[in-house]
Amino acid sequence: MLEMRQVSKVYRTAMVETHALRSLDLHVREGEFVAVTGPSGSGKTTFLNIAGLLETFNDGDYLLDGENVRGMSDDARSKLRNRKIGFIFQGFNLIPDLNLFDNVDVPLRYRGLSAADRKARIEKALSQVGLASRMKHFPAELSGGQQQRVAIARALAGEPRLLLADEPTGNLDSQMARGVMELLEQINAEGTTIVMVTHDPELAARAQRNVHIVDGVATDLSLEPRHGRLRA
Ligand code: ADP
Ligand code: ADP
Repeated sequence: MLEMRQVSKVYRTAMVETHALRSLDLHVREGEFVAVTGPSGSGKTTFLNIAGLLETFNDGDYLLDGENVRGMSDDARSKLRNRKIGFIFQGFNLIPDLNLFDNVDVPLRYRGLSAADRKARIEKALSQVGLASRMKHFPAELSGGQQQRVAIARALAGEPRLLLADEPTGNLDSQMARGVMELLEQINAEGTTIVMVTHDPELAARAQRNVHIVDGVATDLSLEPRHGRLRA
């Protein structure tokens, strides 16, 4: 589904050069649920933004669902992103003066769907996250856990193959975090590949596979012998 080979990313500002990713290799297979952990500043968000075609990279190859992203035009990249990828963020990123229905509609507006198709998708997505009865409510009328569910519905309405989540539970208390994690597990069980950056060891332990990024280099913790899976 997602294959990075020797991907490097350098941020250059007037004063400094930051090597955010250093020849990173990572392969996520279709249907997997992968948690990405690592210290602050290690390159997790950079990795996720490159995976989600929000950022470009300096070197290496990135194959998304078999298509090599390197050298793609901005336009081709954003089309591919719209077709294949859904995002959720720590801060939910909902629009405060739109109700839930209209929030979920935002990414659908650019897809050339009919109003009836959009309505059907929005209702289905809000039902999937258990908020169908709240369509006319505004984000501020919901708890944090519910707001993140709306953001998940917005991502699901695009019917993505790959869902990328950057600290999706970072603003939630542990009970709400567990609820969001259960929802993500259910979405994964229905076939969507998920890559989630998290600081929460309890949530990371629930993913099928853990990848640890340190200084822009990824290590697959599940393949380390001390975890026993290779020897088992
Ligand atoms: P993490 O998500 O693991 O905290 P990031 O991917 O956000 O790490 O950042 C990796 C490194 O790249 C950090 O040193 C950070 O300061 C730097 N960085 C991230 N984004 C930018 C940017 N837009 N411009 C310059 N440096 C950046
Ligand atoms: P969840 O665990 O699903 O996120 P909660 O148990 O936190 O939900 O919230 C229960 C109810 O309280 C919700 O239906 C929501 O409408 C209301 N609520 C919770 N937090 C807030 C808040 N910060 N502002 C407004 N309403 C809230």
